[in-house]
Amino acid sequence: MKPMYRSLRIATILAMLVALPFESAVVAQEPPAVIDIHVDLSDAPRRIFHARLSMPVQPGSLDLLYPKWLPGEHGPTGPITDLVGLNFSADGKTISWRRDPQEMFAFQVNIPAGVTQLDIKLDYLPPSASGQFTAGAATSDRVAVMSWNALLLYPAGKSAHEIMYRPSLTLPAGWGFGTALVESRREGDEIHFATVSLATLVDSPVSAGAHHRVLDLTGKAAVRHRLHLVADSEEALDIKPETEQAFRNLVAEGIALFGSYHYSKYDFLLTLSDHVQSFGLEHHESSDNRLPERTLVEEVRMNSRAGLLPHEFVHSWNAKYRRPEGLTRDNFQTPYQTDLLWVYEGLTSYLGLVLTSRSGLWTPEYAQDALARIAARLSNRPGRTWRPLIDTTRAAQILFGSPSAGSSWRRGVDFYDEGVLIWLEVDTLIRQLSKGRRSLDDFCRTFFGGESGLATVAPYAYADLVAALAEVAAHDWKGFFDSRIYSVQAEAPLNGITNSGWRLVYTGEPNLAQQDREETRELLNLSFSLGFSVSTKDNRVLDVLPGSPAAAGGLPAASTLVAVNGRRWTPEILQQAIVDAQQANEPIRLLVENAEFFSEVLVDYHAGKRHPHLERNDRKHDLLSKILAPRLH
Ligand SMILES: [Zn+2]
Repeated sequence: MKPMYRSLRIATILAMLVALPFESAVVAQEPPAVIDIHVDLSDAPRRIFHARLSMPVQPGSLDLLYPKWLPGEHGPTGPITDLVGLNFSADGKTISWRRDPQEMFAFQVNIPAGVTQLDIKLDYLPPSASGQFTAGAATSDRVAVMSWNALLLYPAGKSAHEIMYRPSLTLPAGWGFGTALVESRREGDEIHFATVSLATLVDSPVSAGAHHRVLDLTGKAAVRHRLHLVADSEEALDIKPETEQAFRNLVAEGIALFGSYHYSKYDFLLTLSDHVQSFGLEHHESSDNRLPERTLVEEVRMNSRAGLLPHEFVHSWNAKYRRPEGLTRDNFQTPYQTDLLWVYEGLTSYLGLVLTSRSGLWTPEYAQDALARIAARLSNRPGRTWRPLIDTTRAAQILFGSPSAGSSWRRGVDFYDEGVLIWLEVDTLIRQLSKGRRSLDDFCRTFFGGESGLATVAPYAYADLVAALAEVAAHDWKGFFDSRIYSVQAEAPLNGITNSGWRLVYTGEPNLAQQDREETRELLNLSFSLGFSVSTKDNRVLDVLPGSPAAAGGLPAASTLVAVNGRRWTPEILQQAIVDAQQANEPIRLLVENAEFFSEVLVDYHAGKRHPHLERNDRKHDLLSKILAPRLH
């Protein structure tokens, strides 16, 4: 009923005011002192970023912090190791500093009498190798992605919303850039931005490059939506007209799904380089998307990565606006409590898949194959017999970046993919309970919609989510989630697929989504037949599924595959061996090198190629096609 829901909303708003969440407005008594920060990216091609800060101070001891827990990264991933060249001075005289003996992200300086301004110089060395998220490779000769948190210190003891920064930037000559920050003026080669809070600054990365292009995706939206492309080559910017139209559809379908938006404008940043770590990071008014150079110009690459921008766009509602209380912090040092990542990331993964299809970035058939791949992966995940999904969310900070060897037994950050299946089930249940009158779209409008306007945060707890779902369709949602998320479930939750009129099957036909992933990630995935996956780049066995034919034969994960049935292995030879074994009694013979020692592994498998697909069940309504179909075009 509506009255109950309204009282809940008021309670939520009161809780927000008490908790002083991260990006909500805080009324200051007097204008806060502003810290100037200038970042110089002139040496970005040499992998050095320079920063100068000028901070109003008072004499005495001063504690300064380097951001440690970064929103969206779900862990203490601040790249402190690559903070170098730290120098403090006042009136031209150097001031000594000390790191806290226990907290590596904290520094202490003593400000001499009479000093009112502290000058800080520091460098950040963006790594060339892979690291976690924004701590990973972020530059090439032609592009650079800069996260302000890597280049700043902030005074301890104040809310990140109270501390104000006046940012400015220098780029290599001729480079263009994109950011959600608002440009205020240019002085020579310096670009100056409007003063923002520390929270907003960290939420507003800059993507810059020698080859750049801006596309307007606004369409009929009331505020400006832009896509900023920067790339290692001019050719990489040559986006296909149908892809550009699909991104425009994404904006329209996203706003149609939620009914409103919580930003003053939205900037997609897309960095295209093979030398920058591929991933996406959500922000309130922008998203930092990083993909291989030729993603926009090669169909296989585009299909394989098409879900990234939809996922990060959904996060503007589900993550930045509505945020679990445990992920709402007023500084960057307090650890997160990540239990609700099955909503924050899981629901985003589901809605991201839906919008990728509704926007036309994927055909509905491709989206079905993507869903089948996820369902099959989670159905062949022995780790689910010991680890409940809630432990993958709670332990997210130690599971991101865990090695591929052992991943099916360990489980990783499965809440992304499993969230897709669980929220599909929620969607189909709402449709069934309401006899087709309501869907998860209605929940999205009530829980994430409301008044359009500026970027704010409305924190929520598990109980708020359950109550909001009950308003859309009466059901024991707590019991529903408790069993699927908070207890061990050996079986993957496939009810959403069966409820929607489909079933998971395995055939010899390739799964398009899996095939494209294999090609772009340079691997061969035989998880559903022999029971292992192998890198086609360095021949390393990536993982072996416990209980599979390969595991029964003794194949070690992280070993190197050398030969199949006596001949040097290639993906084609191995797949032919699987076909041939259907007509034979002998096992497939794999020669592997395991830390210098060679051995032959006998894999007794004769069931042929097995790839996951969804098959229609004509006795049920086809809800899935309805869910995946565009609403607007
Ligand atoms: Zn995400």
